Amino acid sequence: MEASLHPWLTNALNVNLTAGQKELLLWHWKLGIGMARIQELMVPHCAKDESGMQDMMPCLITPIFKTAATCPIPLCASCELARARRRPTSLARVVGQPKRVKPHVSPEAHRDNR
Ligand SMILES: [Zn+2]
Repeated sequence: MEASLHPWLTNALNVNLTAGQKELLLWHWKLGIGMARIQELMVPHCAKDESGMQDMMPCLITPIFKTAATCPIPLCASCELARARRRPTSLARVVGQPKRVKPHVSPEAHRDNR
């Protein structure tokens, strides 16, 4: 699997992510769906049909690294940017405040204070 978006992120030299997290990111970029959903597709699950029969369904995505199905979900920069919103600040905007006027100090008064 080739990573074209961020090749340095899934590079083997990157020690910040585990091999399972790198594989999960590659599947996320390839399929464009959430990583939690991808992890669900990586494990076999029990399915029930209309007659109530239960059957064990195989995993739809077979991970190269078994830890990809259970590893902590890494952050995706593109998804974080897409989720970003403008947040309100604690500051209040004051409208109509009177303009400050510098007090006039005459040179004679300044001289008297010395
Ligand atoms: Zn993403």
